[in-house]
Amino acid sequence: MALQLDVVLTKQKKEKPDFGRLGFGQHFTDHMFIMDYNPEKGWYDPRIVPYAPVTLDPAAMVFHYGQAVFEGLKAYRTKDNRILLFRPEKNMQRMNISNDRMSIPPVDEAFLLDALKKLVEIEQDWVPTAPGTSLYIRPFIFSTEPYLGVRASQTYKLLIILSPVGAYYAGGMTPVKIHVENKFVRAVRGGTGNAKTAGNYAASLKAQNEAKDLGYEQVLWMDGVEGKYIEEVGAMNVFFKIKGEVWTPALNGSILDGVTRNSVIHLLRDWGIPVQEKRIAMEEIYQAHLNGELEEAFGTGTAAVISPIGELNWNGNQLCIHEKSVGELTMKLYETLTGIQYGEVEDKYGWTV
Ligand code: PMP
Repeated sequence: MALQLDVVLTKQKKEKPDFGRLGFGQHFTDHMFIMDYNPEKGWYDPRIVPYAPVTLDPAAMVFHYGQAVFEGLKAYRTKDNRILLFRPEKNMQRMNISNDRMSIPPVDEAFLLDALKKLVEIEQDWVPTAPGTSLYIRPFIFSTEPYLGVRASQTYKLLIILSPVGAYYAGGMTPVKIHVENKFVRAVRGGTGNAKTAGNYAASLKAQNEAKDLGYEQVLWMDGVEGKYIEEVGAMNVFFKIKGEVWTPALNGSILDGVTRNSVIHLLRDWGIPVQEKRIAMEEIYQAHLNGELEEAFGTGTAAVISPIGELNWNGNQLCIHEKSVGELTMKLYETLTGIQYGEVEDKYGWTV
């Protein structure tokens, strides 16, 4: 039976926060989307309702075994007051990839995208206008069955909440200092690295905290088997420009298939810049740097779009790539992607909706 979306609007809208000082993920809009799953009905009762807490049994399986997935994307307001989403179907596809890995039943991607659009439409006053600001969209699923045995839950909830967020580079784009992590790993072969599941982020916090204490903003993750090959930077994919070529780690199961990563590869190939998706040893990057061939390095993700890497610290070796300036290609990618997202650069790839 086709799902019917029910809409119940709030009688009491919230006061909007100061859109000039939004930060990230601190304010939530008036409504949310929610639907439930049980084995008899499948996903059922999709509804947009006033934003409110969710009540769960203390035995709900998500609290104990972390069977949960999430997504992250944004809605952007254009100068002529349209609201755009950037490749949202990719996030729906990735949610089902995560679901499959976490033994969560799949969702109807087209239905969920329609519901998401409807929610954003209802909340359009919450899409901020200042340059670089956006409405962050967080779809997520968690297991709800009250049961302490270790197996897949029989029941789930899927929610979408929205949060107006400030410009990531409010103070201008500055290169970040990265600690090459050689103690902790984010993901292992056969693990959950290519799923956007809560536990991956919980497991990353300790490395992140220790790197912060050492004066670094993020960690560069190495592979979990040999500890030699580069995987991701923080919660972003990573790229290096070496002698006019761009390298990024190949998707190997332990790396998240980023929407921004995919878009950057498309743009580069379209611009005639060779891109290699391959296994990259940290040693190769170090050698390239010693030879003066490491020209640029950057992370890619929905939050920052492009994040320039200024310095890498690897076992006491400082690789200074950019101290204050941002590489030319890094900047061009940032400007092109954000230009498409905000409707200011022609979207010849049909990425915006
Ligand atoms: N890697 C990880 C671990 C992430 O959490 C994210 C953010 N979703 C990314 C990479 C970048 O993905 P995207 O470009 O789709 O935001």
